[in-house]
Parts: sequence; structure tokens; C-alpha cells
Amino acid sequence: MKATVDRTPRTFYGIGASPGIIIGQLRLLGRRKGRRHEHAHLDPARIDAEMVRFKAAVDRAEAQLRTARQQFAEQLAGYTAIIDSHLLMLRDRMIFDRTLAAIAQQGIDAEWALEKALNETRAAFAAIDDPYLRARVHDVEQVAERIFRQLGEQGEEELAAGAEKVVLVARDFAPEEILRMQTERVLGFVAEQGGATSHSAIVARTLGIPSVVGAAGITNAAASGDRIVVDGGTGLLHLHPTQDQLDYYREYQQQYQRYSEEVAAYTHLAAETIDGLAVRVEANIGKNEEAALAVEYGAGGVGLFRSEYTYLNRQTVPDEEELFDLYRGLLVSLSPFSVTIRTLDAGGDKFPTSLRWASELNPALGLRAIRFSLREPAIFTAQLRALFRAGVHGRLRIMFPMITSLCEVQRVKELIASVQAELGREGVPFATRVPVGIMIEVPSAVSVADVLAREVDFFSIGTNDLIQYALAIDRGNEQVAHMYEPLHPAVLRMIRQVTEAGHEAGIPVAMCGEMAGDLAVLPVLLGLGIDELSMHPYAIPYVKRMIRQSTAEECERLAAEVLTCASAQEVHDCLNRCLPARYPEEFGQGGIRRLKTTCCSLLTTPAASPDREGGERCCP
Ligand code: PEP
Ligand code: MG
Repeated sequence: MKATVDRTPRTFYGIGASPGIIIGQLRLLGRRKGRRHEHAHLDPARIDAEMVRFKAAVDRAEAQLRTARQQFAEQLAGYTAIIDSHLLMLRDRMIFDRTLAAIAQQGIDAEWALEKALNETRAAFAAIDDPYLRARVHDVEQVAERIFRQLGEQGEEELAAGAEKVVLVARDFAPEEILRMQTERVLGFVAEQGGATSHSAIVARTLGIPSVVGAAGITNAAASGDRIVVDGGTGLLHLHPTQDQLDYYREYQQQYQRYSEEVAAYTHLAAETIDGLAVRVEANIGKNEEAALAVEYGAGGVGLFRSEYTYLNRQTVPDEEELFDLYRGLLVSLSPFSVTIRTLDAGGDKFPTSLRWASELNPALGLRAIRFSLREPAIFTAQLRALFRAGVHGRLRIMFPMITSLCEVQRVKELIASVQAELGREGVPFATRVPVGIMIEVPSAVSVADVLAREVDFFSIGTNDLIQYALAIDRGNEQVAHMYEPLHPAVLRMIRQVTEAGHEAGIPVAMCGEMAGDLAVLPVLLGLGIDELSMHPYAIPYVKRMIRQSTAEECERLAAEVLTCASAQEVHDCLNRCLPARYPEEFGQGGIRRLKTTCCSLLTTPAASPDREGGERCCP
């Protein structure tokens, strides 16, 4: 029980993980927080019993995971590997043995012993150089949390205990808990940990459960029964909302609901402007299982298949046969749509355990993406062979990440020629006319886009990286996250330069970074000449609708205007002036904040910081 009841309105800034507005009562999960659990030294006679209690809690946690694995096998699809890894961790030395040893040797209770084991494990993970592996501590924490819950008096916890539907708040949620939320009385959830790309956020988006993650400080401030407003698009949370906030969000919620239903109903209509400009709107996916979701949301194909996901979380590199099966399956399931598969983009912030990496001071500028593939021809060739072989089973396009110069493109094309010649000699069927494109995500590639355009069949602008490299903002660094600015005039001019170069050479220019799914910039992107947009599937219906309401001519005028802006702030002001009148459904009333809710892109999410004041962050 809380000592004092503080109902002062407070605002928290998390990360919008899955869009939607909720106004409701919250239920705080995870009762093991320090303030709720008293550490206890045990009477020596109780030590054995305490060890048994701990083992029983682990058994229950294991049973719970196994049930979830069975129960949600279909919905979890590609994510069952996460449950498997959690099952292994439950019995791993670092948690299981260490906790038992602490109970036995230090005579402390199971919760305290587990907390100690977890802290030691956290310290060990913090010392790991490899950032990908270091981030896995999050999984260990989820596993420990599960045991803590089992140690709690409530044992197997119902997510929503009362009759009323609630907003769940906890330090973290495991993916299968989010699946359970579908059937329990849950409106949505708020997690203190996690990021927009954490597995939990991905599952929440897939299921359409409004949620905010990375909301630092929320579990300490909130108590079960408190009222909360959750904006799953912007990541904004209002604890103990004021009457004004409630009025505002109630109105906003209704509009949003009506708008989303209407948008979803028409998502299979073509993405064509009023004056006849057809735009390809496609999906970004990383697993074959997401293909169906893409089609359901109205995607006209896959504009970015992040092939590196296949290489993550495993001990060995996938071989040609495995990759061939995977790519063939993807192409067949999406036929007649086209599928753009990006070759391995390892390094930077994605380090497959199966590959050996030298530790680098600055991995974003290091051996990453195409540089790695060219350095490791055996791995690269296996992927290329699998791709060209699979190409006969559907409409494949191949795309290469992080190209910086003509010479890289030439080396890639030489390798392609030799792979094709080899397949020909072996008499293995392969596709001969696969469009080959490159990602434009480094400023040097923008600069020589005219040269590169003569060599390839399409461009795809990777704004996530292009912005990071152009503005010198590490996309994973929270300290500078607020400076990550897609509306920086430099970025807009670069996009223009790329579309001009592409069109001059007669090739289409796509965009597949997060910016492609942001309604705030959509008219500008169309006006700048982007031909294809690829984004997270859930953003597709909104983007298609807005395209259908636009005219190419107006978009061009808007793009011309923003190109004259001297600063991101000016661009922001210009959009705020023009969009609400032109697109009242999306931007009316709440202005640009409304569109954040619909698309919830990373670019418009305020940096998670409890002490930042409210307001819009499109331009800082
Ligand atoms: C990008 O950089 O914009 C992109 C789509 O690639 P990734 O986010 O996978 O680096
Ligand atoms: Mg990239």
C-alpha cells in the first residue's frame, strides 16, 4: 500500500510502440519492487524449504512458458524462438544456480537471492563489448521477472483482475503476455523498459494493442487504480489527467476511432493521387511470417525484407539451402507482388552471434553491411546464390545496403555475374532478370547518385541511416536522440538530389526508412518525387488514404516551398500551416500531433525523458 496518495497530474514521455488512445484505470504488475518486498535473513532451518520454494517458482514459470508456447503457437509464429531462449535461461547457471547458491550460502530469502543473481548478471552483461549481446540482458530480466512473479503470493497472475478493463503497467512484458492481453480485460499496456523495436513492441503492433514502452519512472509513480491516458502513437502518458486533458483525449479518441475504422475499410484501394499519380506502397518486414500481415494491411508488395534477421540469434550462419527455402517461400506467398530482399546488413547495431566480429570503437562507421559482405565472399555468395535461385519462383528484387561508392557497386555486380555464371555451369535454375538496386543511406552515395543511377535498376533511400550519417547523430544514442531530425533541410535536399538523379537515369526511387511511413512528411515526399514507399505494415492504410486525398501538383508545390526553408523549424512551421487545412481528418484540431498518433513513427516520438516538458518535437 502506498503511504500517501499523490494525485498530482504528471506527464511521462515514453516511446509510442503501437498506436491508439486509451483513457482508463491502470493495474500495476510486478509486485516485487523493493518497496514491496522486505529482504529477509532466514532461520538456518528454513534454508532447504526456501530452495524448494525457489525451484517450485521456476517450475511454474517454465510450465507457464510451455503453455504459452503451445497456446499461441500460431500467433507467435516467428517469435517462438524467444520463448525457447527464455526456457533455457530459466535453468541457466547465471540465474538458477546463482540464486540457489545465495540462498544456501548467505541464508537469504529467494527474492533477495534472485535479485542478487540478477544484479551480478547485469554487471557481467554490461562488460560485454558487443552491443547486440549486451542488449540481451533484457531477456534475462524478463526471465527473472517471471520468476519474481511466481514467487509472489499471487502466483500465476491474471493480467486483469477485476471486472473493468484496465491499462497494464509494469517494468516489462514478455511477448506471450501481450498475446494473453487479447483475451483478458486489457485496454493496452505501458512498460518502463523496451524500445520501439523490442520484440514486445513488435508483437503489440502486430496485434494492434495500444502501448507505450520505455516510460522511465512510471512504475514508481503509478499505483493500481490510478487513472491514466495513454497515447500509443506519441508515447505520451498522463497520470492523474486533468479535466482538460480528459476532455481533449475523449474527443481525440472518438475521432481517432472513427478515422481508423474508415481507413482500414478502404486499405485495399489503390494508392493513387486525385490527379492520377500511382505510388507503390509496400511493407518492411523481417520474417516470412509477417508477409500475411503486410497483405492484410494493403501492401502492394515488400519494399524491404531485412534479411539479416535470419542470421541473428543462432550459432551458425544459414547455408544456401536454408536461405533458398526461405526466400522461395516468401516469394511464393507474396506472388504476384514484388519482394525486395536486402542482402545481409550486419554490423552497426546488429551482430549475428554466428559471425565473428572484431570489436570496433565506432561500429556504425565500421565493418557494416555491404563492407562486411564483400569482406566475406563465402557468406555473401551463398546468399546471392540462394536469391537468384529463389528468383524463379516469384517477383524478386535484390538490394544492397550502405553503398558508398561506384567501386562497391561494380564489385557487387562482378560477384553477381560470377554467381550467375557458376549456377549456369552447374545447370541450376536461376532468375536472369532480377532488378538490382542499392540503398542510398550514406551522404557520399547521395553526392554521386547520378553516377550510381547509371549502374542499377532502382534506388531505395534508407532515411534511418541517411539522417544518422548526414547529421552525425548516432541513431541508438539517447543523449542525442532529440537532434535526430528528418525535417532538416539537408535531409530534404538530399532526398531531392537522389530523386532527380534517379529520374534522370530513368530508374524509380523508393524510400524504406521510418520517414516513409510518417504522414507529416508524406505530401513532401510525393512532391520530391519518391515513387515507392515502404514502411511498417500498420502504417500502410493511413499512408494510402492520404495519397488518395492528395494531388501530385499540390505536393510538388509544397515540396518546392519546404525546399526554400532554412531550418527544420521553418519546415515544421510550414507543414503545420499547410497540412491541417488540406488534410483536416489527419491534422485538423490537434494539428501535427494527430498524425503522430496514426503513424507513431520513431521520428516524431519525443525522447524518453521524465523531466522534459510537453509540446511537439517534430522540430526541436
Ligand atoms: C534505413 O537505414 O533507413 C533502413 C531502412 O535500414 P535499417 O533501418 O535496417 O538500417
Ligand atoms: Mg539502414
